[in-house]
Amino acid sequence: MYAPHPRLRRRLGRLALASLLFVLPFLLLAPPLVWEARDDAQQRIEHGLVLTIRLLDHELDRAEQLARALHPLAGRPCDVETQLALRKQATSRLNVRSIELTADGKSYCSSLAGAVAASPAAPRYRQDGFTLRRGSELSPDVPFIEIHEGDGKRGVLVNIDGRYLGLLMGAERLTPQRAYIQANGVWVGPGFVAGGGAIPLAGSQHLKRASDKYPYHLFSSYDLPDWREVLLRKQRVISAMLLLLGAVLAGVGYWLLGRPRSPQSELRRALDGNEFEPFLQPLVRPGSTQWGGAEVLMRWRHPQAGLIPPDLFIPQAEASGVIVPMTAQMMARVARELSAAALPPGFHLGFNVSVAHFTQGDLYGECQSLLAAFPPGAVALTLELTERELLEATPAVEALFRRLRQLGVQVSLDDFGTGHSSLDYLNRLAVSGLKIDQSFVARIGANSLSGAIVDSVVELAGKLGLDTVAEGVETEQQAAYLGELGVTWLQGYLIAKPMPLADFVAGLARQQALSAPSATASS
Ligand code: C2E
Ligand code: CA
Ligand code: CA
Repeated sequence: MYAPHPRLRRRLGRLALASLLFVLPFLLLAPPLVWEARDDAQQRIEHGLVLTIRLLDHELDRAEQLARALHPLAGRPCDVETQLALRKQATSRLNVRSIELTADGKSYCSSLAGAVAASPAAPRYRQDGFTLRRGSELSPDVPFIEIHEGDGKRGVLVNIDGRYLGLLMGAERLTPQRAYIQANGVWVGPGFVAGGGAIPLAGSQHLKRASDKYPYHLFSSYDLPDWREVLLRKQRVISAMLLLLGAVLAGVGYWLLGRPRSPQSELRRALDGNEFEPFLQPLVRPGSTQWGGAEVLMRWRHPQAGLIPPDLFIPQAEASGVIVPMTAQMMARVARELSAAALPPGFHLGFNVSVAHFTQGDLYGECQSLLAAFPPGAVALTLELTERELLEATPAVEALFRRLRQLGVQVSLDDFGTGHSSLDYLNRLAVSGLKIDQSFVARIGANSLSGAIVDSVVELAGKLGLDTVAEGVETEQQAAYLGELGVTWLQGYLIAKPMPLADFVAGLARQQALSAPSATASS
């Protein structure tokens, strides 16, 4: 299965978060924007209806007043004088189409047609009537409204021109194509389309408002604005600003995530990125040049800073506890990469282990897995326990030491002689080796006291049956002296400097190739 490299994974994570930040302001604010635009649209239509009703009512009021004013004419004969009076009133008003006089609810005198013979078929007007008509006999396609003012016997009828009403209905921001008036079972809509029954309202949304003075309703239909229309057209400036804000947030987020973090999280990041590498420094028996073992020394291959020596990061790793998984990873990696190499029998393999590892994590299991990677007995695993920190010999720790020893794992005291109560350790814990610190080795031959310390440490080790490794051996003289003393292993620049694991394996192979012919020759 494909598993992306941790660094790539982190970068992808950063990118994902930045993308989220980029769209976040837009995602959060776009719905309210759309909602508001829709609400706005609806309110505009509603407001338009209310205003239009006000305008219409005002027109109807004026028509009613006119009818009332002309009431004295009602009942008069439809002579030239009366007709002229009616015509004068009708033509002087923009909205009035015609004025008629009625008797017993029937028209007998019209400003348009003059004297009308009251036929039994002619309509009878209601008292105080408001009637919406689809059209008249004269102009069947032009709707109009009749206002009738009468006292039961005589009355005045004012016809308001539908064309004028159409203008009014378009005036108040009502989408005029979508506004309808309905009264007495008749409706009139855009382009004077008129009918009875259900109004053919288009659009997804419908609104209805009634006049509270006259018996009619106004209807309007409209469509809610689409979110694309709102965000890309109506509110495009705000949309652009939201995206800009998102871009700024994304940039800041991306930068913040990529910033160097606390030493601990930086170590964790390096751990996930497999940036810690094992370097191996060979160990030889005194008098031999054949590498019989190695100490694993950690290096940090930092992506920016390059190869970092352990002194610069081990203390933080120990202080934060990250050293435990770091060491576990190191052991697993060495097991993986070294198990394929041909090792000399009983190869001494030393790891530096911090005291925290004896109380946290699964040191026993890790040693077990490491040993399982090699043929039985091929590797003598040694844990180097530094004296820098004090390991409290609790019953649990003592038990772990015993179990490790049963597993065949040796524990050796590193930097012996420089730190804490070494002799107490030796006493309580099942320690099987000592590493003579390089500061003592360095002064061999120069300072008699250091020489005496090395002498007595080796002597003590011999009496306790402990192995000794002298580290920091740089000269032939030191090597010869330590050899004579009976030190088990020598380690130092005289033999080789710590090197990458692959170099160590190559060096080992070279040595074996060189020694093989002589080995066959001597047998
Ligand atoms: P140490 O365990 O005492 O390791 C020996 C140090 O001496 C190594 O330094 C090694 O490179 C250096 N050395 C070896 N031969 C000579 C020599 O002939 N002359 C001189 N001058 N130096 C020599 P290095 O690799 O820098 O490691 C420093 C310390 O970092 C180690 O001291 C050890 O305490 C710690 N360390 C290294 N790797 C690990 C690790 O995996 N885990 C833990 N807990 N500590 C580690
Ligand atoms: Ca060591
Ligand atoms: Ca040391």
